[in-house]
Amino acid sequence: MEPEGGTRCRFAPSPTGYLHVGSARTALFNWMFARSTGGSFLVRVEDTDTERNRPELVEAIFESMTWLGLDWDDEPVHQSDRLEAYVEAAGVLQRTGRAYYCDCTSEEIQARAKERGGTPGYDGRCRDRGLEAGDGRALRFRVPDDGSTGFDDLVREHVEFANSTIEDFVVLRSNGTPIFFLANVVDDHFMGITHVIRGEEHLNGTPKYLLLAEALGLDYRPVFAHLPLLVNEKRQKLSKRRDDVSVEDYRARGYLPGAMRNYLALLGWGPPDGVEVKPIETMVQEFRLEDINSSPAFFDTKKLDHVNGEYIRALTIPAFIERAVPFLPHEVPDAVAAVTALAPEIRDRVRTMAEVPDMADFLWLEEPKVDEAAWAKAMRPPEKAADMLDQLVIALTDLPLDAWHLDPEVDVESNTRAPGIKAAVLSAAEAAELVNDEGRVQLAKAQAPVRVALTGRSVGPPLFELMVALGRDRTLERLRQARSRLA
Ligand code: GLU
Repeated sequence: MEPEGGTRCRFAPSPTGYLHVGSARTALFNWMFARSTGGSFLVRVEDTDTERNRPELVEAIFESMTWLGLDWDDEPVHQSDRLEAYVEAAGVLQRTGRAYYCDCTSEEIQARAKERGGTPGYDGRCRDRGLEAGDGRALRFRVPDDGSTGFDDLVREHVEFANSTIEDFVVLRSNGTPIFFLANVVDDHFMGITHVIRGEEHLNGTPKYLLLAEALGLDYRPVFAHLPLLVNEKRQKLSKRRDDVSVEDYRARGYLPGAMRNYLALLGWGPPDGVEVKPIETMVQEFRLEDINSSPAFFDTKKLDHVNGEYIRALTIPAFIERAVPFLPHEVPDAVAAVTALAPEIRDRVRTMAEVPDMADFLWLEEPKVDEAAWAKAMRPPEKAADMLDQLVIALTDLPLDAWHLDPEVDVESNTRAPGIKAAVLSAAEAAELVNDEGRVQLAKAQAPVRVALTGRSVGPPLFELMVALGRDRTLERLRQARSRLA
């Protein structure tokens, strides 16, 4: 059971310049845990590698976290400010005989391992040489020969490693910089971290963490929860090369922050009632580390699209338009008006905001961009399609001008905001004999050639509404153009 309040967890990114979706999931789970227990969500930047220690590489991570609504408590801790603490800890290890200096080069270590056969790695050659600190000398931790190091993990249950399988690992490099494990444990202790919630790739290193804590006399052992790996549809670990892994990429492609966060929360965890799309506040109330699954979590972009679509449909019309604007071509002044005209129809049909222009570009392009495959399919058989277009030109020419308007709401009976236009399309379809055996109009068949004639595509906003948005003159003109192309 988690103690109520007083919990402290942390997200510890390295300065990579972007927030990986896996790291975002780790940050989110830490955040949900802290918020659900009334504890603190802290951030620590693991930037001891001076080469990568540039502020903009960290800023990008903070920006993506802020976009996702993951607010943290206190100022972030930077490991680059704390080098002295690590060197001091290393000194303690050395003075108490728990670590020793070693001057072996990696070539020497490898050569000996090869000669020896069996497990590669360091053979403990310098253990009893009594070397002092000096140029080219690294400090190594003396791992106990016997026994084992184990811990309870809230996701993995009990994990145990035989000490004999852990080599005497470096804690201070020969250039004086600390390795990850040393800085990691010194800072978790320093920051009073009660729960270490992090990716599965850190599971195998946890015994080193615990051995160091013990050797430093810290009497410190946080609760661990190692989160399952994220995999793609081929069950491969997500990789930067193969997959879209940066939160910023998803933002740029028109995913909403709430949707992204909701989706990330489902990677290795799920609400107990099985309702997967719900407000984050509710999820926070339901979140328990014990309920995290240990099997790999599939990063399913189709499901993400679905969740995003639900969030988009939940937007008010003004909010939808505001979110659409950045995705519209800036050089087209009419684009915003075009999207505004059909906002309810477009909002209900897109999965990402980046799809919005494709839904409306026929309104601002001089001529629609024709998708040839869609055209060929919709205009089949050509005589029928031609007849439909002809009949529609006649029906629309006769139609009173006041039919060319959009009702504010969809009419229940006709199921459209443009009932007059729908009636004209139906009568044209009848005249073109696009009816079934019972004499009912085959609406899909009738609409397909009209849609491709007007928009160039097979998918888009509902036809009657889009005709009104296009206007009488342009509609008639495009129908005639398509007709002559067919002839
Ligand atoms: N800096 C580590 C990483 O980015 C985090 C280690 C930890 O959370 O303990 O994977």
